Amino acid sequence: MKVLVADPIAEEAIDFMRKNGLEVDVKTDISHEELLDIVRDYDALIVRSRTKVTRDVIERAEKLKIIGRAGVGVDNIDVSFATERGIVVVNAPGGNSVSAAEHTIGLIISLVRKIPQADRSVKEGKWERKKFVGIELRGKTLGIIGLGRIGYEVAKRMRCFEMNILAYDPYVSEERAKSVGAKLVDLEELLKNSDIITIHVPKTKETEKMISYREFEMMKDGVYIVNAARGGIVDERALYDAIVSSKVAGAALDVYEREPPDKDNPLLKLENVVTTPHIGASTREAQMIVGMTVAEDIVNFFKGLPVKNAVNLPSVAPEDYSYLMPFVELAEKMGKIACARLNGVFNRVKITFRGEIARRNTEIVTRALLMGLLNQILSGVNIVSAPIVAKERGIVVEQSRIEESDIYPSLIEVTVSNGKEIYLEGTCFGEECRILKIDKYKVDFVPKGHYIISLHEDKPGVIGRVGTLLGSYNINIAGMIVGRHGGKGGIQLMLLLLDDPPSEEVLRKMVELESIIDATYVYL
Ligand code: NAD
Repeated sequence: MKVLVADPIAEEAIDFMRKNGLEVDVKTDISHEELLDIVRDYDALIVRSRTKVTRDVIERAEKLKIIGRAGVGVDNIDVSFATERGIVVVNAPGGNSVSAAEHTIGLIISLVRKIPQADRSVKEGKWERKKFVGIELRGKTLGIIGLGRIGYEVAKRMRCFEMNILAYDPYVSEERAKSVGAKLVDLEELLKNSDIITIHVPKTKETEKMISYREFEMMKDGVYIVNAARGGIVDERALYDAIVSSKVAGAALDVYEREPPDKDNPLLKLENVVTTPHIGASTREAQMIVGMTVAEDIVNFFKGLPVKNAVNLPSVAPEDYSYLMPFVELAEKMGKIACARLNGVFNRVKITFRGEIARRNTEIVTRALLMGLLNQILSGVNIVSAPIVAKERGIVVEQSRIEESDIYPSLIEVTVSNGKEIYLEGTCFGEECRILKIDKYKVDFVPKGHYIISLHEDKPGVIGRVGTLLGSYNINIAGMIVGRHGGKGGIQLMLLLLDDPPSEEVLRKMVELESIIDATYVYL
């Protein structure tokens, strides 16, 4: 498997991937056009914020299966198109929060004490002590917009400066804010009462230009603005006008709408703008953590193990993870059986979770079922793209949960239909999954290997004839279950575990045998 590292990441992460058998090419200076030229050769792509993984890149990347963002923000990746293509996007949340928070604090102090300007002046041979009078942080109000990982770390540290801390974040609880001494307020209150405002929200449609003319108008005169989140959250034109009109006393910017900013960006000409080249996360510690986090997920992904930080997969809480993984395997196998039995034609899927599993976030299990169903008829459907593909094909997916269960602590029931219907029931004991029922027939087996599932008339000699046929093709029967329903006679189900897959011819001949109604091969 080939990995392209398109932006610099820690050497340890590169070594780790190589040691785990991945072929890693490091090309950290390539342009967008060069990336378009070479990306088709790679199975994985690792970027930071420089490289833009746009739709055209993903379209060219025929083999690409996973994109790793060594950092948090994924606004440089077209995640929805990657999802449509079944490409997993992983990031490294949290790994650089402390570094970004420390940088923010550095920017705040530099800004209010004019440290970079003073530094320049001294180096130019001047000694302008009166020019560089600043303000104290003590007793001032800091407004934090976005109390996520970084905003939280900033709040935690700024308490020591004896600041009052206001926070605006509609998605966090008052308890979280309180735990770092911040008061949760609405945006207007924050804007009106803060002496320094620092931005820590992700860049989304909602947050783009969330600080613009109207918002500057509401702020205190002489407010300071810090943006170490993403360029464009603060409207650069409006910020420039607010600084020039002295509404804003100064701004510290680590990020820009365009990076690097145009040389003639008017903000760069202002004496009271302190700026750094998007280095909030650039510490040895952060680079090591985010690089390793992404590298571990990529290695896990190619080993067929679940990834920890997928952006376009439902998140599984750590305490649910080991419980749900066997059910993910079970559901995929149930999907395979259902698809095989219905010859790939179905338009309705129903999954019911019973018992303990009904209390967990089972989205990933449903996705696995859809993947098992669809992968038999379409190529390349994976756990990322399965719900989208199902929707595109007009397949109706229903999920229900019943917290009570009788015999088994957790049970999954699946019904797939297209007029014809198949019903399956399964459970897991620890890591071992078992299929308990196919339609009305009790089976109870560990689904692993080559199977023929067949309906037959319950008459003497049928099983013997099947054994003879398979024997004549040198196919060994490793196991057999006859799921009998009701009494003697009628139509019954036969499940054969084979050492080798049967050919089309064997299946055709089997159906031609007296009393055999159908025969379906499935590899589980
Ligand atoms: P996070 O997801 O942990 O936190 C973001 C917070 O913003 C969340 O609590 C969320 O509820 C809140 N939020 C979302 N939309 C909001 C809205 N409309 N109004 C108010 N709050 C809103 O993210 P994080 O790890 O703390 O990162 C914060 C920002 O910093 C991101 O933009 C990230 O890309 C950026 N970042 C920059 C650097 C750098 O080098 N400068 C490094 C790391 C992260």
